[in-house]
Amino acid sequence: MKNRRDNTRENIPLPTYRGDVVYSCINCGDTFPIDQFFYTCPACGSLMKLIDRSFSELENITGTEWRDIFDKRKMSNAPSLSGIFLFHELILPTVPPEDVIYLGEGHTPLVQANHDLSSWAGAPFFVKSDGLNPSASFKDRGMASAISYLNHVIRKRDLPEVLGICASTGDTSAAAALYLSYLPKGRVKSVVLLPRGKVTVQQLSQPLGSGATVIELPGVFDDCMKVVEDLAENYEVFLLNSKNSVRINGQKSFSYEIAQQLGWDVSGLSVVLPIGNAGNITAVMEGFLDLLRLKIIDSLPTVIGVQSEHADPVYRWRMAGKYKPVSVVPSVAQAAMIGDPVSFPKVRQLVEEHFETRFFAIRVSEQEIMEGMMTANRHGHVVCTQGGESVAGLKKAIENGIVSPSSRLIIDSTSHQLKFSEFQRMYFEDSFPDEYEVSPREELKNEPVYINGGASDVAEYLNLQKK
Ligand SMILES: *Cc1c(COP(=O)(O)O)cnc(C)c1O
Ligand SMILES: [Zn+2]
Repeated sequence: MKNRRDNTRENIPLPTYRGDVVYSCINCGDTFPIDQFFYTCPACGSLMKLIDRSFSELENITGTEWRDIFDKRKMSNAPSLSGIFLFHELILPTVPPEDVIYLGEGHTPLVQANHDLSSWAGAPFFVKSDGLNPSASFKDRGMASAISYLNHVIRKRDLPEVLGICASTGDTSAAAALYLSYLPKGRVKSVVLLPRGKVTVQQLSQPLGSGATVIELPGVFDDCMKVVEDLAENYEVFLLNSKNSVRINGQKSFSYEIAQQLGWDVSGLSVVLPIGNAGNITAVMEGFLDLLRLKIIDSLPTVIGVQSEHADPVYRWRMAGKYKPVSVVPSVAQAAMIGDPVSFPKVRQLVEEHFETRFFAIRVSEQEIMEGMMTANRHGHVVCTQGGESVAGLKKAIENGIVSPSSRLIIDSTSHQLKFSEFQRMYFEDSFPDEYEVSPREELKNEPVYINGGASDVAEYLNLQKK
């Protein structure tokens, strides 16, 4: 654009590295080419991850140099460097900058929690407001990488037609439909599968607004996931669930950004986030590992995953030492209401190999989640129920002595308050169905007051003094 300051010429280190990225099975280690679509290993059926076989080339650059590269890129106006692809070499170097799709995702603010909220939680902390992404959740990070990748593959292989598809607890479909709708309509079709009645009105409105084909199925998310997995196994579709490791790679940007926002010093840091399908926590751990390998940071932070009593398979695994799927009960943290997280095998591997002493699972009640959300939002934040789960998890982690109140603490507010305003309404109206086990506290309730009158009536109601 002519009227924008063109600063890409001077001093901005542009991404020229393309790497040697392949799919690699997390179980048998077999590798597969990146220009084909793989979600599970054709040899053994396990999950895939992306590995860059020439990563050691990146290690020839010092940590100081990397920090400088990423900091300089923050001054660029180029769309391909404005979002998660600022960290191009670590996200997906295969995709050249001209194929990157940027819709405004990433670089979300790290907001200091208000003083009273910090006292309530037990320590000062920061909120990473990932609800301030284009479709109002962190899912946009993974969608930006997946759709940039798709855009690249379509061009490279000259694919005539692609059907992008996902199952969702709401936010994946909103993000998938948004990003897919940016690609040429004739070539790319967009389909989302949702559990009927298990996503909020706002979340349902998003893929509809983006023009996706929205299919509702009976049951819960896990049931939709089975259908979509079957479709991905047997039909030519591009799967946009977090089983698609390209999405996980985009979500690693959350960790890179935190490190950058803290001036690259993550010593004594704990990051608290909700666990649903476990893609996000996988990405967060992998992201910090990348930074450690490149000596951009010099230690790993503590990672704390929070689950509701109504959907707690990872918590149970951590307590009992063995993993078993659970059947879920309705939860206000609906986007994390998953009984058999797809990415669990990755979490187990990451914890066993790198985070054994730095990974904790915390379980909170539905009541605590709602109070976490309502209290945070009364103090200047815009957290969703899953963000409330993070806040409640942080409070519990401090109470249980898992984190010290003097350490640095960040909670992930994974989506925007407005997506989950139905739960706020149920809280105010005390209309939660019994299975949620939420009884509102009077002091957190609020409701509109109708005054059929003019200024003097309003003044009287408010007890205003005349000037
Ligand atoms: C998807 C989602 C989660 C859960 O993340 P996973 O990667 O599935 O563990 C949490 N909060 C919100 C708002 C989400 O959309
Ligand atoms: Zn395998």
